[in-house]
Amino acid sequence: MIIVYDAGECRPLSGVRMGNTPAYKVREPYHAQPPRTGICQVVGVFLLFFFIPLSFAGQIHGFSSKVPKEGYEKRRYDMVAMQIAARGIKDEAVLRAMRRVPRHLFVPEGSKRSAYGDFPLSIGYGQTISQPYIVAFMTELLEPRQDDSALEVGTGSGYQAAVLGEIVKEVFTIEIIPPLGRAAESRLKELGYENISVRVADGYYGWDDHAPFDCIVVTAASDHIPPPLVQQLKKGGKMAIPVGHPFRVQDLMLVEKSEDGEIKTRNVLPVRFVPFRRTWK
Ligand code: SAH
Repeated sequence: MIIVYDAGECRPLSGVRMGNTPAYKVREPYHAQPPRTGICQVVGVFLLFFFIPLSFAGQIHGFSSKVPKEGYEKRRYDMVAMQIAARGIKDEAVLRAMRRVPRHLFVPEGSKRSAYGDFPLSIGYGQTISQPYIVAFMTELLEPRQDDSALEVGTGSGYQAAVLGEIVKEVFTIEIIPPLGRAAESRLKELGYENISVRVADGYYGWDDHAPFDCIVVTAASDHIPPPLVQQLKKGGKMAIPVGHPFRVQDLMLVEKSEDGEIKTRNVLPVRFVPFRRTWK
């Protein structure tokens, strides 16, 4: 059974089973592999005498710093396979983005080891980075395309913005807590996300200068859908927003604006996000 955690707190929402669990390849027993002969033996001896000493030399000269990177990359691939693809996320661009963004660099130093776990994590100031599955689910819901312009309300760590930034042309993200917004801005810059702009403000009003947007994602729970955000959604665009009571389970809603400007909304998933706020402190 796969437990879906809520996005705002570290408690499981319910025991929801989503999609199939992955089927693992059964390895052949060792003795079933064909015996090595001739050239294989020569190659084996070469590997033994050339690469093993080289790897020791690597440690001495500091090449060993590659090890954690490979470790995190492996954890990221496992995260995508077991938490995301196994629960039914299919959009290749989303899966690729989730494999690329180094989530461990978006969490506090002491949480790095847990960065690829199946749960949200605290990022300070009472806020959280959402569970990886929720980030992937919301991103897929928007059906983002390469030429799109996206708005995020609730930058937090900058992780969701980076995932979107891997897929679309440009991302505009707004954070109401100044130290979080500034930290996310410098983190995204350091990581080379030149297509992401961060603003410290109340995201209720969206970002008029860059509107309209093909996709809008709100990552804090509001008791209603802010009208300025609906207005800034492009015709044919999609918005994902958790709507409901801030301290209870909310509905993740998909808002679609048709080509003739008609608005349709539907509930897609019960979630729990931190509250949408109108001021800091
Ligand atoms: N998307 C983030 C996590 C979001 S947590 C990530 O990937 O890490 C929700 C964030 O929304 C918090 O940082 C909170 O401060 C912010 N927030 C809440 N109300 C807001 C508002 N009115 N405008 C902008 N940001 C807001």
